[in-house]
Amino acid sequence: MANKRDYYDILGVSRNASQDELKKAYRKMAIQYHPDKNQGNKGAEDKFKEISEAYEVLSDDKKKAAYDQFGHAGVGGTGGFGGGFGGGFGGGGVDLEEALRTFMGEFGTGSIFGDLFGGGGRNRRTSSGYPGSDLRYDIQLSLKEAAFGVKKEIEITKLSTCPQCKGTGAKSGTGRTTCIDCSGRGNIRTTQGFFSISRTCPKCNGEGTVVKTPCSNCRGQGRVNKSKRITVTIPAGIDTGSRIKLANEGEDGLQGGLPGDLYIFVRVIDHEFFQRSEDDLYLEADIPFDVAVLGGKIDIPLLDGGNIKLKIPEGTQSGKIFRVRGKGVQPLRGYRRGDLLVRVKVEIPVNLSSSLKRQIRDLGESLSEKNLPLTTASKKKIKKLSE
Ligand SMILES: [Zn+2]
Ligand SMILES: [Zn+2]
Repeated sequence: MANKRDYYDILGVSRNASQDELKKAYRKMAIQYHPDKNQGNKGAEDKFKEISEAYEVLSDDKKKAAYDQFGHAGVGGTGGFGGGFGGGFGGGGVDLEEALRTFMGEFGTGSIFGDLFGGGGRNRRTSSGYPGSDLRYDIQLSLKEAAFGVKKEIEITKLSTCPQCKGTGAKSGTGRTTCIDCSGRGNIRTTQGFFSISRTCPKCNGEGTVVKTPCSNCRGQGRVNKSKRITVTIPAGIDTGSRIKLANEGEDGLQGGLPGDLYIFVRVIDHEFFQRSEDDLYLEADIPFDVAVLGGKIDIPLLDGGNIKLKIPEGTQSGKIFRVRGKGVQPLRGYRRGDLLVRVKVEIPVNLSSSLKRQIRDLGESLSEKNLPLTTASKKKIKKLSE
């Protein structure tokens, strides 16, 4: 493991900082280095992971105590962060949901823990067996689905309790027998010099018993890979980086352990015409030259389908943005829909016949300074600069 920095140093707090001080320091740094604000900046991303990891440990009283006493070794510091998701979230630890809520205010979506937590794997033993791993599923949504919500059916393959042995791993009608390797103690003692070292028996995983005849369906593992179809309700207003948690839809536990959770990671595909900025949508519309000059109405498509008429006032310049209230994205929290912002571009006519060119030339010549205030102002500016 590479040299890891001291967690207190990372957060810039003293070793006897209170939980409030830790939280404050973490929030401040998390906002500064948040990936949403530092896109493509690898340094910021690493920094963000580092502070998140530091806070994960220091905000948990048990982990903090272990870290204070033993340093990185005390918190199983195999660098569980940043690894693949494979092993699921590091069990327990900081309450991600709680932390997520803390950040909702700043970032609007649940993006903060997006891709950043992973690895770790939880194999902590509980009084009732081993919990199942958390799982990750990446889902792609169209902008429309993300804006208004959708139900999606997904299929996942996960380790599930073996139906034949009900998870015991033993062939039906056979039970468990005392482990020979550890004589049922669950641990093995070896002597090294002056020390007697005790370690968990690898044969029975510390159980003290092993199955007599393994179940043929799961080969004694107690779980088998099974695919399952799940309907996921995607809430309106979700965005790339959001995460949906489906409790207990992860892998089944072993020996009565609780199932893990399933995390759906969302990515929204770019739309051909609409761009999204938080709850607002942007659209570019070309309008003909005469409509820009005289005013008129143009058809504007809506993301939810259908069209609306947008009134273009007389004398509309290229680049002007019109706001159509309530035609944006449904917010994830709150009720007021965002707006649709239409940016118009005035199209200069091309491929003119000589007769049309003549008419335009006549028109140009008959326009006065009053008709072209912007051009007139520009001319004056240029004249002043060249004096
Ligand atoms: Zn089985
Ligand atoms: Zn054993």
